[in-house]
Amino acid sequence: MSPHSPASCSTNCTPYNGRMKPADFIGAKRLGEEHDRTALETFFGAFLADEVADYQVSAWLMAVCLQGLTERETADLTQLMAASGDTLDLSGLPHTVDKHSTGGVGDKTSLVLAPLLAVAGGTVAKMTGRGLGHTGGTVDKLESIPGFRAELPEEQFLRQAAEIGVAVTGQSRDLAPLDGRLYALRDATATVQSLPLIASSVMSKKLAGGARSLVLDVKVGAGAFMRAEAEAAELARMMLRIGSLAGLNVTAVLSGMDAPLGREVGNACEVREAVDCLRGGGPADLRELCLRLGSLVLNSAGLDVSERQLAGHLDDGSAWERFVQWVEAQGGDAAAAASLPLAPGEAVVAAPAAGTVTGLDAGLIGRAVGALGGGRSRKDDLIDPGVGVRLLHKPGAEVEAGEAVALVRHRDGRGLDAALDLLGRAVTVGSAEPPAPLILDVITG
Ligand code: URA
Repeated sequence: MSPHSPASCSTNCTPYNGRMKPADFIGAKRLGEEHDRTALETFFGAFLADEVADYQVSAWLMAVCLQGLTERETADLTQLMAASGDTLDLSGLPHTVDKHSTGGVGDKTSLVLAPLLAVAGGTVAKMTGRGLGHTGGTVDKLESIPGFRAELPEEQFLRQAAEIGVAVTGQSRDLAPLDGRLYALRDATATVQSLPLIASSVMSKKLAGGARSLVLDVKVGAGAFMRAEAEAAELARMMLRIGSLAGLNVTAVLSGMDAPLGREVGNACEVREAVDCLRGGGPADLRELCLRLGSLVLNSAGLDVSERQLAGHLDDGSAWERFVQWVEAQGGDAAAAASLPLAPGEAVVAAPAAGTVTGLDAGLIGRAVGALGGGRSRKDDLIDPGVGVRLLHKPGAEVEAGEAVALVRHRDGRGLDAALDLLGRAVTVGSAEPPAPLILDVITG
């Protein structure tokens, strides 16, 4: 080593006053060394005790972005984050199943899947979050139903899950607080985009959430975290590996997110679309994804349920009945969910030319709904559930020049100019190309 090269150090052999020096730990990752579990526990234990500073953790996060984490480090970090707060004990409930999506636009699958899985014999006892940035959150959608209580005391949550097979609550418990602190630093230091950090962050909350069987919906495309399929597949494999090391049954689906899922983007209009699906209707892509995710997770939980059987539960009204029971158990007016009020203002996005709709950029559409007031850029922003965008055509449709492609629902013009600008860029019309399949791959452990 030259005298000017950074000192090499091993995380496992540099004690400082009997403990490891944070700078040595950070330096080890800068050099691409592997941390052992004790070193990770020491560093993050000290961080949680406010003995390691945010800037030191930020430096480590950047080193991870550049050098990566090994599979073992990723699994250890996940387990440390999962164990850093409360964990839910669902062991008294049969066939606990969960679905996690890496974040999409127009993704209302959780609203359909929760009652559908329950009808088919699974138990869905799910803690879920609010939306941030251009993607929506399940809790926000549920809270657009009058009376719906998205915060349940633990006892009621568990009782309801046992009685009707479905209970969904906001993240009121302190699940994986170490992940929360790391995510805030990642967000502020451009270190979110690291596969092992994303995989460990997602899986830490899933481990703490307690379900035994999990299906991951890893979105790929313009509206997703992962733009490329190969990267999404690598993320899926990492999460699968973490899950199986922790003893969970995990399956992953890679699904397209170039265009939004379904036709509706916005909180209240997405609930209405989910209700259509639960009653046997709704858009084909939403139904296809729900059936595939549902049968995969039920099968991994040991329940032999086919997509056709699940389709039967949508078509014969039993999934809808379970939705009504669920919403009423949480104080909501289920009948109102089918016709939630939408914002009164309407504007149209027209096709720029005649041809085939080749693109409906989900990222831009998500941002447009945010501009209308339907999303939040900060955790405590209030959202307007009634605003949104309805896609009148999907990729592959033929349109005339000037024909309406999307309908914007706004309130008193709030954010309308910005939304129309984004939507004008989101819609592309060209010569016919076959639309990409929705389900790109299924990866099993
Ligand atoms: N979602 C998470 O929960 N964590 C990440 O790091 C990215 C997406």
